[in-house]
Amino acid sequence: MSAAQVLERRGEQGQGGERGASPGSQPTPPPRREKKTSFDVVIIGAGPAGYTAGIYCSRARRETLVLSGLLPGGQLVNTTEVENYPGFRNAIMGPDLMLDMRAQAERMGTAIVDDEVTNVDFARRPFRVMTASEEYTARAVIIATGASPRKLGVPGEGELAGKGVSYCATCDGPFFRGKEIVVVGGGDSAMEEATFLTKFASRVLLVHRRGELRASRIMQERAMADKKVEMALNTTVGAISGDGRVERVTLRDASGSERDVGAGGVFVAIGHEPNTALFRGQVELDARGYVVVRDGARTSVEGVFAAGDVHDHEYRQAITAAGFGCMAALSADRHLAASQ
Ligand SMILES: Cc1cc2nc3c(=O)[nH]c(=O)nc-3n(C[C@H](O)[C@H](O)[C@H](O)COP(=O)(O)OP(=O)(O)OC[C@H]3O[C@@H](n4cnc5c(N)ncnc54)[C@H](O)[C@@H]3O)c2cc1C
Repeated sequence: MSAAQVLERRGEQGQGGERGASPGSQPTPPPRREKKTSFDVVIIGAGPAGYTAGIYCSRARRETLVLSGLLPGGQLVNTTEVENYPGFRNAIMGPDLMLDMRAQAERMGTAIVDDEVTNVDFARRPFRVMTASEEYTARAVIIATGASPRKLGVPGEGELAGKGVSYCATCDGPFFRGKEIVVVGGGDSAMEEATFLTKFASRVLLVHRRGELRASRIMQERAMADKKVEMALNTTVGAISGDGRVERVTLRDASGSERDVGAGGVFVAIGHEPNTALFRGQVELDARGYVVVRDGARTSVEGVFAAGDVHDHEYRQAITAAGFGCMAALSADRHLAASQ
């Protein structure tokens, strides 16, 4: 079922009302088309987790709706080549991969509506999921709203995202062979990214705004033990520039003086923000705002499941998100079967 087919047809035979009307009689008014708003499963989010959950729920013959939010396709629509999603001998472009996932879910019967969820009510059954213009009810809900990488907010970052500016070393590291790279951040993930990137880069400059790193000692030691890693503490990034690709990074030290360093890439590793504001007070979140899951995909509310980066702050990959989407869908199907 396509997004357009969310519209449930009423009085199909009456379509084209004039047909069959006797001469002189009033034409039959066009049939009233009412939007379908009640589903077995509503999936919030349309990244790899949400679409995969849609595919599995629909194949299990559950009436399924995906609400995509402001970024249909999720984080991968903001990238170019994806080399590590299985099934593609050659790299596939992120947006193409996500369009294919969407089409696959639609072919299985998933309804997809490009609308943002503004409120949810998991306190009563059926659950309610609201957008600015609609209220949907669901017997089960899958939260797949992902997480957004924190941005530096400096000139050049947005324009050069995907053209040398990256937020994921595991994803993009192999594209930076032999290049000088700047990694920004001072926590464990920045250390991990810097260490990982030494496999490819000729030099990794780790830039951190404070005089001390936040990372655990062991992670710091591991990063510092590598001869390719250099540190620039008490330093911030002022701008990223280049002609269509990252070529330079402007660094600013504590005294405010600036210098340009040549760089073929910038990896921003200053954390992620889970997209969970909507669920505060509805399901249990951890101290960092990620959804807490137990036994695979279960949240603190029976019948509400979570999948992907919205709960997984460790792996954060398209394939793991898709795997979690599958798990959440199977759990939702079992929940529905048990509560029928
Ligand atoms: C630049 C970049 C490159 C990457 N490259 C790779 C790579 O090469 N390989 C790899 O495996 N991984 C890569 N990743 C990581 C990968 O994209 C994520 O791990 C994956 O997309 C997570 O999937 P998800 O479905 O959990 O969430 P997301 O992809 O984040 O999708 C979340 C979805 O939730 C929706 N949403 C949010 N709030 C609402 C709301 N209120 N109402 C309705 N919907 C909402 C969004 O619109 C979006 O559709 C990359 C990430 C980035 C940022």
